[in-house]
Amino acid sequence: MAVSDDFALQSVKVAMTPWERFDEFLQARGKRITRQRRLIVEQVYASHEHFDADQLIDLIHATPEGAKASRATVYRTLGDMVDAGLLRKMVLGGREVYEHDYGYPQHDHLFCSSCQALIEFSSDELIRIRDAVAATHQFRAQSHRLIITGICADCRSSRSRNRHQDRV
Ligand SMILES: [Zn+2]
Ligand SMILES: [Zn+2]
Repeated sequence: MAVSDDFALQSVKVAMTPWERFDEFLQARGKRITRQRRLIVEQVYASHEHFDADQLIDLIHATPEGAKASRATVYRTLGDMVDAGLLRKMVLGGREVYEHDYGYPQHDHLFCSSCQALIEFSSDELIRIRDAVAATHQFRAQSHRLIITGICADCRSSRSRNRHQDRV
C-alpha cells in the first residue's frame, strides 16, 4: 500500500528523534529498552509508508539482527509506539494499517475499496470546517481523522473501459 507520489507531504521539524522520544516514553513507564525494540523503531522510520504488522515483521526478519524477533515483540512495540504518539493506527478494508504520526503533518486519506490505494491529502478548508464545528460545541479540536472511501481514478477508468468493451 504505497503512498501516492503526486502528493508528498513535507516532514515537520521535531525536537527529538523518534527513537529518543520512544526511549523517553519507555523509561517513564519502566519498560525495558532492548536492541530489538530499537531495531523495530528504526525499521518503521526507514521510510514513510502505510504498513501492517505482517509487512513490518517480514522486513524485520530480513535483517540479520531482527531474524529472531518474535511477532509478540513486534505487536507489543507497535502498540507502545501508538501510545507514545509515534504512530497512528487506522482500519482500512478490515486491515489494521500504521503510519508515522511523529514528525509528519496532519493529513487525511482517500481509500480505494477496489485496489486498496491510499492517497494522502491535506485541506485547510477542512480544518476550518472542523474548527468551526468544534466551536459551536465550545470544543477545542486537537486532531481529527477522515477517511474517504470510494473508487480511485485508475479503477474508475478501467471500469468504464471494460463496460465499453462489453458493448462492442
Ligand atoms: Zn483503485
Ligand atoms: Zn497517511
